[in-house]
Amino acid sequence: MNSRKDRFDVVVAGGGLGGLTAAGLLAKEGRDVILLEKEPAVGGHAAPFEWKGRRFDTALHMVMGGSRPTAGGEGIITDVLTRLDVADRCELVRIEPMYRAVFPDLDVSVSGAGREGYVASLAKHFPGREDAFAELIDDCSRIHSEALRFPITPGLLQKLAVPLRFPQLFRNRATTLGEGLDRYGFDADAQSVLAALWLYLGLPPSRLSFPVWGSMTANMVEEGAFYCMGGFGRLAEALREGAERHGAEVRTGTSVQKIVVRDGAVRGVVTDGSDTFHAPIVISNVDARLTVWEMAGAEHFPADYRAKVENLRPSIFVVALYTAIPADLVPSETVHETVVFPSKNHDANFQAALNGNLDGVTVTIPTITDPAAGPEGEHLVVIQGMIPGDCRSIPDDAVRQLAECAAPVMPELPGHLGVGPEAAAGFPDRYALRTIGPIYGWERSPDQLGPRGLGNTTPIEGLYLCGHWSQPGAGVRTVIISGMRVCRLILGDRISKGIIG
Ligand SMILES: Cc1cc2nc3c(=O)[nH]c(=O)nc-3n(C[C@H](O)[C@H](O)[C@H](O)COP(=O)(O)OP(=O)(O)OC[C@H]3O[C@@H](n4cnc5c(N)ncnc54)[C@H](O)[C@@H]3O)c2cc1C
Repeated sequence: MNSRKDRFDVVVAGGGLGGLTAAGLLAKEGRDVILLEKEPAVGGHAAPFEWKGRRFDTALHMVMGGSRPTAGGEGIITDVLTRLDVADRCELVRIEPMYRAVFPDLDVSVSGAGREGYVASLAKHFPGREDAFAELIDDCSRIHSEALRFPITPGLLQKLAVPLRFPQLFRNRATTLGEGLDRYGFDADAQSVLAALWLYLGLPPSRLSFPVWGSMTANMVEEGAFYCMGGFGRLAEALREGAERHGAEVRTGTSVQKIVVRDGAVRGVVTDGSDTFHAPIVISNVDARLTVWEMAGAEHFPADYRAKVENLRPSIFVVALYTAIPADLVPSETVHETVVFPSKNHDANFQAALNGNLDGVTVTIPTITDPAAGPEGEHLVVIQGMIPGDCRSIPDDAVRQLAECAAPVMPELPGHLGVGPEAAAGFPDRYALRTIGPIYGWERSPDQLGPRGLGNTTPIEGLYLCGHWSQPGAGVRTVIISGMRVCRLILGDRISKGIIG
């Protein structure tokens, strides 16, 4: 329902998962909130993609944060849904194995059944290295718990205490994934399997931050990976329903054109329909570059902040193929989530992607976990491969490349799509293709993390950033934490105490 009101306590620009979380939690705490989303549906990267009557997850494969909340701070997604009284609107189920990593001569299914399950699944292929895998995951767990406790806006004394209070984060602040794994004496094959999920984080081991990978891995191992039955659009819809239940107004199909700034403070926003909404607080869930350059206007930011936004590097794009395939063409050993590489050298795979060759893909088959997500007798399949961020058009023979990359685990796929050396475009009525990105906000390299990235506050009074362009970073669980952090900054300590720093 659209109100005629034009004054609110808070305007949220963008209905991605971070924005929805912030809107819902603030509304629950009695703030008068309006969320404006430019697309017809909320969710951003979590919104579904419809093709031929089938509903695909546009981007997402799996999430962490789906378990019941514990004193250790896990289960953050469930925690937020529970706070908003909509936990029953979205069923998160565990994916096991978490993922399968396939190389030309190595095929490893990695378990998410706790630390022991994870170590055992790796030790099956790399016997005698149990202690090293356990030591790695222990270190990653420390990194993860330190990252959760890290103060949102550390004062001077807290900054000075970082080496003592956050020793793992401090020690690894400049460490890449490759350097981090080198410490444990793994052989090249074990390193390739451990690092295989770099494909989700958008940078190869030589450039990806070890704490980013370590935090994700520890969270996956300790808590497991989850799929949202019916697709992740249900999670976005549940957050929307929760926000509305607590009094927030959510308006889709409404783009924020301008964030109004006067005398160094936000005053509200103007939409593409020329509506003005006045508010002393605006939370932008939109690309930070657009927020600064186009929506608020660079002239309102100090030079050092403008330079930071200009110099930070965005993450990579992906090209995604969506298809439905007869179930009998899918091998019986196929799992929900597989990463397939033509070589164990991830840096070479990444370089190939930058050069326009889709070397290394993710193959996601949600109907393995959720058979009701597609028509009977079919599997829904999503294949994603990386493309450079400056190549936003679909590469010419993307269908052939994606199908051939996935063929080691789905040999019938190229034939089903009608692709091969002779026919790059295949049967166009059997698939949909699109590019998506930047997949993760900023690149997750050591030189762009923590204080070197963008925080949740800005130099403009009342203007906050939430989502994957701000702290603590990218990924569903992480942007939900970002929404919680912004609430904490606005409301004070009582929000999510004990869960985030
Ligand atoms: C291909 C791909 C695969 C991924 N896989 C995973 C995964 O498996 N697991 C995982 O945890 N994470 C994954 N991620 C990352 C995750 O999806 C994102 O980090 C997260 O969803 C980003 O949420 P956000 O809150 O930053 O908002 P976004 O999803 O970026 O949404 C921003 C919203 O703002 C809206 N908007 C933009 N401009 C305006 C405007 N002017 N006015 C109003 N609204 C506006 C947009 O329409 C959008 O709805 C993946 C991402 C991609 C792209």
